[in-house]
Amino acid sequence: MPERRKRALVTGGAGFIGSHLCDRLIAEGYAVICMDNLRTGSLRNIAHLHDEPRFEYVDHDVTSYIRVPGRLDEVYHFASPASPKDFERIPIPILKVGALGTHNALGLSLAKGARFMLASTSEVYGDPLVHPQHEDYWGNVNPIGVRGVYDEAKRYAEAITMAYHRHHGLDTRIVRIFNTHGPRMRPDDGRMIPNFISQALAGEPLTVYGDGSQTRSIQYIDDLVEGIFRLMQSSERRPVNIGNPDEYPVREVARIILRLSGSRSGISYRPLPEDDPKQRCPDISRAREVLGWEPRVPLEEGLHRTLEWFSGHVHRAGEKTG
Ligand code: NAD
Ligand code: UDP
Repeated sequence: MPERRKRALVTGGAGFIGSHLCDRLIAEGYAVICMDNLRTGSLRNIAHLHDEPRFEYVDHDVTSYIRVPGRLDEVYHFASPASPKDFERIPIPILKVGALGTHNALGLSLAKGARFMLASTSEVYGDPLVHPQHEDYWGNVNPIGVRGVYDEAKRYAEAITMAYHRHHGLDTRIVRIFNTHGPRMRPDDGRMIPNFISQALAGEPLTVYGDGSQTRSIQYIDDLVEGIFRLMQSSERRPVNIGNPDEYPVREVARIILRLSGSRSGISYRPLPEDDPKQRCPDISRAREVLGWEPRVPLEEGLHRTLEWFSGHVHRAGEKTG
């Protein structure tokens, strides 16, 4: 008998990560419903899927009751603003999508008997006191700081996901995503990579916050999507870190982008935002063990690809960093 086509819902599917996930699911033969309210996403990210008969876009704010006709096999809950710039700009929608949005997506999954995945984040570790961060570390988060709205929303989202698993027997997955970059990031999104690349291409100084000694581990989008896909197919219910363990000081990332872009821009040092984590690096032993996953794209190759995309799609269009 031919295998039944899987049907998946991707919330936040018009965003950076969500749109790449939609691409992967379509390539794997799924029927995909992409649900978004375009708060930080864009229809441009999914325009190439417009004529795909297995792809459907639904405009909906997932903090309100989610209605999806027909069966669903998998729900990927990726809706949430993710840039530190948004933590001050739209704090309450961030808390609501993490709390109410996750609750609605879980309720839908339960009603449909679908497998559920939460897009969580390295931010659940806050400004970590343990390095590198293993999934068993509980984190160091300031609940009332500016970043707290995002960190605590995701921590609540993890808690309610595990409650649905334990209490209702829902088949759940939690992916803790570390800093990711690639095509379709918003140039004015305010995060490190889009800022540095937009600034380098515009010939403006790269704004390094603090002295730039804080570290980040950045992965390329293709590696992340591979990890997400493998996790959904696995039977792992514990949270799994998906990130690149190669760790660099932020000022070093700025220098690499200057070199790769051939830009003559310099570096301009700015104040460090409140509660900016000093170091961040995933321990990926669980992902290696249970998913056979590890990142494949080296830092410079990934940055080169993202740079190419920005110079083709954004810089040429005359858009500027915000
Ligand atoms: P993004 O802003 O590009 O995508 C998020 C999408 O969610 C957008 O399309 C936005 O319009 C949509 N959205 C927001 N609120 C919504 C709502 N109430 N209803 C419906 N749609 C809504 O961000 P991203 O970088 O693609 O992040 C996607 C997910 O991955 C988020 O859950 C984020 O927390 C998580 N994450 C991302 C990173 C990263 O490095 N990019 C790191 C850790 C975790
Ligand atoms: N950062 C920076 N200049 C920028 C944007 C960000 O120096 O223009 C720093 C930021 O303070 C942080 C790191 O780069 O230490 C990564 O920031 P990002 O916003 O990408 O995500 P975060 O990891 O903090 O969530």
